[in-house]
Amino acid sequence: MTEVPVTKDAVSTTDKLVVLDNVNKHFGALHVLQDIDLTIARGEVVVVIGPSGSGKSTLCRTINRLETIDSGSISIDGKPLPAEGRELARLRADVGMVFQSFNLFSHKTVLENVMLGQLKVRKADKKAALDKARALLDRVGVANQADKYPAQLSGGQQQRVAIARALAMDPKVMLFDEPTSALDPEMINEVLEVMQQLARDGMTMVVVTHEMGFARSAANRVVFMADGRIVEEAQPDQFFSNPRSDRAKDFLSKIL
Ligand code: ADP
Ligand code: MG
Repeated sequence: MTEVPVTKDAVSTTDKLVVLDNVNKHFGALHVLQDIDLTIARGEVVVVIGPSGSGKSTLCRTINRLETIDSGSISIDGKPLPAEGRELARLRADVGMVFQSFNLFSHKTVLENVMLGQLKVRKADKKAALDKARALLDRVGVANQADKYPAQLSGGQQQRVAIARALAMDPKVMLFDEPTSALDPEMINEVLEVMQQLARDGMTMVVVTHEMGFARSAANRVVFMADGRIVEEAQPDQFFSNPRSDRAKDFLSKIL
């Protein structure tokens, strides 16, 4: 039997949604992911932090196979990531991804951006896709921007549309790669609040971020990476108040 977590401390670790087992990846001579073992339970929120170049983005990108891996395995909800084809497209749709640079289709309206994947990948009918897109835009607080083009929106609004677009695919897990790093400071909170709400609603999330306030309040676990390795994993309070590794201590002394 699977348990739905009621608080951030009550996640059932027996219900494994994303499993990386001894994953290795190279870019030429660079060993960018080294023996990565990472299991993410359904409903869990994992924040990944670490110095620039430590492999955080590559880790995210391997989880929906935007990058291949050299060895090891990755499975989502018990199914290994397929190499290619229709199966891969379906599985990839289970993994929502939000990037630093919004990546909306500039020649489509906000509403069309949120409908597109539903129509093309999920084969939803138009009315259902439209209703869902409107509901999601409402949920992220940009319902009144539906007929505009991305360039007419602020960065914070665009990022919230990007979140709505990812949610429209009914993903099992959402990956966020520095979703607020490209935003003006006054827009960071409106995006973090949407993510907080998503976490409270029970979404499984992997979040690469330097927003330590978010990590403290929303994360079940902090994963600290350096030089392609997971150096340390801990609950946020423990990690921030009492990091064990010298690498983490050094990193935290620079950002806090
Ligand atoms: P982070 O997100 O933690 O800053 P990345 O995963 O983006 O780190 O990058 C890790 C390392 O891999 C960096 O040294 C980066 O330059 C390198 N790298 C990332 N993508 C590529 C690529 N497509 N080809 C070659 N090297 C890459
Ligand atoms: Mg990165």
